[in-house]
Amino acid sequence: MHHSGRHFLQIPGPTNVPDRVLRAMAQPTIDHRSPEFAALGRTVLEGLKAVFQTAGPVVMFPASGTGAWEAALVNTLSPGDRILAFDIGEFARLWCDVARRLGLEVDVVPGDWRRGVDPASVESKLRADPQVRAVLVVHNETSTGVTSRIPEIRRAIDRAGHPALLLVDAVSSLASIDLRHDAWGIDVTLTGSQKGLMLPPGLSFNAISDKARAASRTARLPKSYWAWEPMLAANASGFFPYTPATNLLYGLREALLMLAEEGLPNVFARHQRLAEATRCAVRAWGLEIGCLCPEEHSNVLTTVMMPEGHDADAFRAVAAERLNLSLGAGLGRLKGRAFRIGHLGDFNELMLAGTLCGVEMALSLAGVPASKGGVDAAMDSLCGRPEQTARPL
Ligand SMILES: *Cc1c(COP(=O)(O)O)cnc(C)c1O
Repeated sequence: MHHSGRHFLQIPGPTNVPDRVLRAMAQPTIDHRSPEFAALGRTVLEGLKAVFQTAGPVVMFPASGTGAWEAALVNTLSPGDRILAFDIGEFARLWCDVARRLGLEVDVVPGDWRRGVDPASVESKLRADPQVRAVLVVHNETSTGVTSRIPEIRRAIDRAGHPALLLVDAVSSLASIDLRHDAWGIDVTLTGSQKGLMLPPGLSFNAISDKARAASRTARLPKSYWAWEPMLAANASGFFPYTPATNLLYGLREALLMLAEEGLPNVFARHQRLAEATRCAVRAWGLEIGCLCPEEHSNVLTTVMMPEGHDADAFRAVAAERLNLSLGAGLGRLKGRAFRIGHLGDFNELMLAGTLCGVEMALSLAGVPASKGGVDAAMDSLCGRPEQTARPL
């Protein structure tokens, strides 16, 4: 069936690819050993540093975010190494699965999927175990809509006086929520192309600290495709050790330009404004936000808990079929129990208003008990007015 008008892709990644990026990619593929390519390579490798807020190197692989997980681990760790991780959501869990398959010993701190990583627990765990080689933290847990406080986690590691590396998954936060690779003392920040960077899926990234690079020289996990050193050696002249995703790099060059034109602080403020308006809408509907701590609310997506007895996937199917609106599914243990509204990437006030209008209509169409007035509450928030109280149906 043909749907007229624009599809609303409001899942928390892949995000809407802006027309500027689509047009930039619609170019002939060039020789990846040519001087013209080297100029492109150097431009994007340099431009990425600003987005990661680092002076050090950023490498990229033709892969999804999962590849960036693997690259971060195999370059820094050795078989049997102990690592500390936190069960705060589906992506944290999947990263642990990758680590276990690679032969690492993962100590997982349990969680309720409604809170982020507790810095106090990082400190006590590290004090109790001097052997831990790395701490794995998902900055923005995309399955729950919770953003962990990386600077506080860094301070907890320092208070414990522990030498463990800090590896941070920033797949859904980079270029949407502030993340400072250097200033926050992160050793590897990893991400993918399909979220805040506004590109299609297909690129993955590692920003590398001096300490992580030093660790990579003695790390013994097998690595070939993901090895940093040959990548860094080729990158020095703008090239890659194997065929790069040339057309995605055209898109990346354009996306980096767009982020620079808007300015990162403005990008972060825009995400904050749109996220706050979304939370106002959810409260006005009388529904529950997944994230329990206000200081951990995600500015890139909102997870909404379904009222008891209602299936989130049935509700999402109504939104898709009736309104051509894609909302994020509940993942893992939230399957059927929650849905997710993505509000990141190339996104603005009226796109948000359309999205929230779609959610409010779909709640009504699907017979989910919710108050009206969510869109009004969001508009008031966007216009800087105080939150209104919910009006009953
Ligand atoms: C999207 C995402 C990933 C990567 O998933 P891929 O499907 O491999 O690209 C990893 N971590 C987080 C937090 C994500 O949101």
